[in-house]
Amino acid sequence: MRAIVIGSGVGGLSAAIRLAAMGLEVLVLEKLDGPGGRARVHRAEGFTFDMGPTVITVPAFLEDLFATRPGDPRLYPDFPQEEGLRHTERYVKLVPLDPFYRIHFPDGTHFDYNDDREHLLAEIRRLAPEDLEGYLRFERDAKAIFQRGFLELGFTHFGSLGDLLRVAPDLLRLDAVRPLFSFVKKYFQNPKMRRVFSFESLLIGGNPLSVPAIYTMIHFVERNWGVHFAMGGTGALVAGLVRKLRELGGEIRYQAPVRRILTQKGRAVGVVLESGERLDADLVVSNADYVHTYGELLSPEDRRWHGDWRLKRTRLSMSLFVAYFGFRARGDEGERLRHHNVLLSERYEGLLQDIFQKKVLPEDFAHYLHLPTLTDPSLAPPGHHAAYTLVPVPHNGSGLDWRELGPRYLEKALGYLDEAGYLPGLMDRLVYAHFITPDYFQWTLNSHLGNAFGPEPVLWQTASFRPHNRSEDVKGLYLVGQSYQPGAGLPSVMMSAKMTARLIAHDLGLERLPRALEEARA
Ligand SMILES: Cc1cc2nc3c(=O)[nH]c(=O)nc-3n(C[C@H](O)[C@H](O)[C@H](O)COP(=O)(O)OP(=O)(O)OC[C@H]3O[C@@H](n4cnc5c(N)ncnc54)[C@H](O)[C@@H]3O)c2cc1C
Repeated sequence: MRAIVIGSGVGGLSAAIRLAAMGLEVLVLEKLDGPGGRARVHRAEGFTFDMGPTVITVPAFLEDLFATRPGDPRLYPDFPQEEGLRHTERYVKLVPLDPFYRIHFPDGTHFDYNDDREHLLAEIRRLAPEDLEGYLRFERDAKAIFQRGFLELGFTHFGSLGDLLRVAPDLLRLDAVRPLFSFVKKYFQNPKMRRVFSFESLLIGGNPLSVPAIYTMIHFVERNWGVHFAMGGTGALVAGLVRKLRELGGEIRYQAPVRRILTQKGRAVGVVLESGERLDADLVVSNADYVHTYGELLSPEDRRWHGDWRLKRTRLSMSLFVAYFGFRARGDEGERLRHHNVLLSERYEGLLQDIFQKKVLPEDFAHYLHLPTLTDPSLAPPGHHAAYTLVPVPHNGSGLDWRELGPRYLEKALGYLDEAGYLPGLMDRLVYAHFITPDYFQWTLNSHLGNAFGPEPVLWQTASFRPHNRSEDVKGLYLVGQSYQPGAGLPSVMMSAKMTARLIAHDLGLERLPRALEEARA
């Protein structure tokens, strides 16, 4: 039984590992010359830059993946029971970070965010004592959302509207469908606290003003499992996943862009590459962007459900401008900055509206500044730092011409870090710079209009309303990764892979349920 996986993003690799452990012959076809998708690595002049994800949460999901064995794809339970990272350590070293983030405000103050409750309370007391009581209420309510939305329902494949209707009363009772920022405002008066406890949905492409409050769960996901960094960079983690796949007998072919998914009588039977080569398969898993997969890889007669009208109606997440830069160290970088920094500007709601609704390029910025060489100096030549700064920008529906804008935006973004005193003298110390814009997401990663995180996780594109992991249009076609359920971010795409592998196991009659579930079914 042969499975083809289109795309080697973390979701694609995770699915491939589970399928290989199930005993399938697995071939991953990747358009680019290396693995990882958004988690690719850019190397130049002695610097190693992770191009995408850097915040590793829920390492237990990695442990679950690295612990798979031939005949044991570990499809159940949702959350593995064992402690520690014994299997992960054979592939990659994860280190916990503290703080998780330093959130910088434009008035020069900052909030250090971590999983230590007493520390969080002390930070709130220091910056916004009036919100201490509000935090305690927020903590109670966000925890209840985390319990139901993540621990109990996180691995539910919402295959029909009925699946959603069954849990809707709970979500309403928890007020988890109200917009996140509006939810946070119920508990916090201070504008700084409102930002600290709402910005995180941006990390998965969600506008805090419009995503449902179910995303407050991120606060507890991080408090429960911490924030980690993969030594050597996220690229080392991706290399570990590739090694795991190969050990299980799976194969990857790079520079193998898929042009079409082939079907016969409504069933996926293989793919055709851009080169014209035809590869047969018993099932196909697409890890590529939703609109690309349905709109370009399937012919129109194969898609009744995901027709052009539905694809056009899809609201896409924002895009990103990311500058990767290397500079001479002064030695004092760790005084003001931490490994992960969120640099907020004066405006918050206005800035978000510019990016998500008006789709204009704002004059001011919010940055996420990554300075991994504070944790792992091996990512830069001696005496240097490697960093990236990420700025949310509208996707290419904006009509902005990034070929013209890009170089100027690079100057502006790095100049800001220098002038605002985050990295004083940066422009004189800069030795290397490279950038990506929405065009990279659109033309290199095949993401429609250059979206960075798939469909925007608004309420009507969440759960049953988010593209499903099993295609309604084509039998034997499955979909894994950030465009599909449950959503974007490394933990979610690993969940997506496990949920998809379960569907495949079920459809092939290979499902070995844990005894408790078998008894419940009987
Ligand atoms: C800059 C940035 C920072 C981020 N930071 C974090 C973070 O700190 N923590 C976190 O958890 N998440 C973060 N995310 C989100 C996270 O990186 C993504 O949600 C996740 O990596 C997406 O994985 P995926 O499996 O959906 O596949 P993708 O990474 O989207 O990969 C899809 C793959 O499919 C390939 N492909 C597409 N079309 C074809 C075709 N026709 N034929 C063959 N191959 C094809 C592409 O080349 C690509 O390799 C970040 C994202 C970005 C962009």
